[in-house]
Amino acid sequence: MLQQTRVEAVCEPFERFLTQYPSPSAFAEASDDEVLVAWRGLGYYRRARLLRDGARRVVEAHGGTVPSSLEDLRDLPGIGPYTLGAVASIAFGHPEPAVDGNVERVVSRHRGFEEPIGTGPARRQIRQVIEGWMSADRAGDFNQALMELGAVVCTPTSPNCEACPIAAPCVARRTDRTGQLPVKKAPKKAIVVTSRAIVVVRGERALGYRVPDDQPNAGQIELPGPGILVDCDPDDLRAAIRSRFDAVVAAGQEVASIQHAITHHRITLHCHAATVQRKGQLDWFSLAAETPWTTPSRKVFGRVDKSGRLEA
Ligand code: SF4
Repeated sequence: MLQQTRVEAVCEPFERFLTQYPSPSAFAEASDDEVLVAWRGLGYYRRARLLRDGARRVVEAHGGTVPSSLEDLRDLPGIGPYTLGAVASIAFGHPEPAVDGNVERVVSRHRGFEEPIGTGPARRQIRQVIEGWMSADRAGDFNQALMELGAVVCTPTSPNCEACPIAAPCVARRTDRTGQLPVKKAPKKAIVVTSRAIVVVRGERALGYRVPDDQPNAGQIELPGPGILVDCDPDDLRAAIRSRFDAVVAAGQEVASIQHAITHHRITLHCHAATVQRKGQLDWFSLAAETPWTTPSRKVFGRVDKSGRLEA
């Protein structure tokens, strides 16, 4: 949950999640929709389904107990290098590096590495250094200490070198380059998208579609349109819906407009009231909390409800 997400955003969903799914076997039985709802607000929803798939493998192949060997852990769906290192070292004591962004920063500064972090060569260099430092009998403590050092002492903008326990040989400190290291990859340029959708509500249900697996928000329910990352003029909305869902609609006035960000896409989604002559492959989905509507769709429902302009 903590990958790419702030701690404050994780606390509440984490508690809720553990109450709902107190064991791998409880989680293994969760449907896709239940998983997506339990993960609401954390983004990167693919992780949630992979985690559930991992729980299923734990139940099927390991009798419901998370395996302790590196090989078995590595085989679980949803376990990448960082999670493998964290679980293997903290839970089972394996001397396996757990390299998060904090650790990358500490090691890059300490060794004066010039390779941009996140690239293959930088990953290899950093891992090699950590393997040399790694404590054989307290690997979990070591990994957590290094992550914590990056989080509270060797911070991105104002490292506290005076308080740092590994300050003496640190290249960045000695050469006064803490502001230049670590070297970062050029940020991806933001892509601005102006997309559109229709919003049609009948009673406690709204018209939508399930997002295919190869698209952002896979498996969730979204308002009908060309797709959240596709630019669309108002005049093209009807044709886009017809060609995508074989549905015939007459899109009317705009009733809501929301902003949303997915990775480096900055999206404005304009939503129009509509009448439906043929729903084609679209379907009616409940507005209840148990339905995994996408975050942009829920934002739209919030707006149109308040404005009272939603077509019944
Ligand atoms: S001495 Fe400063 S720059 Fe070097 S690792 Fe410690 S906090 Fe980071």
